[in-house]
Amino acid sequence: MNFKRVVIKVGSAVLSENGKLAKDRIRNLVELIAKLKKAGIEIILVSSGAVSAGYTKLKLDKTVLANRQALASIGQSYLMSIYQKKFNDFNITISQILLTQADFDSRKTSKNIQNTINILLENGVVPIINENDSVATDELVFGDNDQLSAYSTYYLNADILIILSDIDGYYTDNPKTNKNAKIRRIVKHISESELNQIVTPNNEFATGGIVTKLKSAKFLMDNKKSMFLSSGYNLINVEKYLLHNIYKNGTIFQIGN
Ligand code: ADP
Repeated sequence: MNFKRVVIKVGSAVLSENGKLAKDRIRNLVELIAKLKKAGIEIILVSSGAVSAGYTKLKLDKTVLANRQALASIGQSYLMSIYQKKFNDFNITISQILLTQADFDSRKTSKNIQNTINILLENGVVPIINENDSVATDELVFGDNDQLSAYSTYYLNADILIILSDIDGYYTDNPKTNKNAKIRRIVKHISESELNQIVTPNNEFATGGIVTKLKSAKFLMDNKKSMFLSSGYNLINVEKYLLHNIYKNGTIFQIGN
């Protein structure tokens, strides 16, 4: 497939390490985006990590919702400043779009979002979307941007959603607890029981776990779109897939052949 517009979602676990922002990983991601753009692919980045970025600056008790929202507010601008620095090296302009999931529920607002993002993309800008964490509570409770990125993919008519996680694909069982779990390479159907698993986010800042990723995949497949779950630590598989249509590793969720 020839990809024209792609949404890339990067999770908190990938963006931070040992209480700091993982700047090398951010750099690798930015480098990949620059390569994809050079090949003519429009990229929309959905980035989590505001709360964990905020926590590197101020140690508030994260079990309190208002504290997490305050951390998100600190971390969002810090995170963007890091993106800004890295994208500058490639002469790429970025923009920030803070959304809540409800923004897509209203036809008028979602049309506005589409119009704005289309103008940004037409002009070579990389929009960076995040949930408006300091006012919304949904992400902090439910989703770690997995669902927001699926909505973005569908409503902005992208070809595929790439989810960069701390895991390199969807396994037959949680690979962190079951050594015999095997990666599932292509998934064409997601059952109710898979969607009803207990949520098991891996990282102290992650709130999604595998279930929110499966929900996103199902939403996209129901709407004839695909999703690729891959490692955010090593981007070579995503690069090969998007640029050369070569599939090495990761999980592709797609209907049909
Ligand atoms: P991120 O912050 O990257 O979005 P999450 O921690 O929310 O990541 O979700 C990924 C985690 O889900 C994995 O690290 C893994 O521990 C857990 N997990 C549970 N079941 C599975 C499964 N069947 N396949 C892959 N990962 C799973």
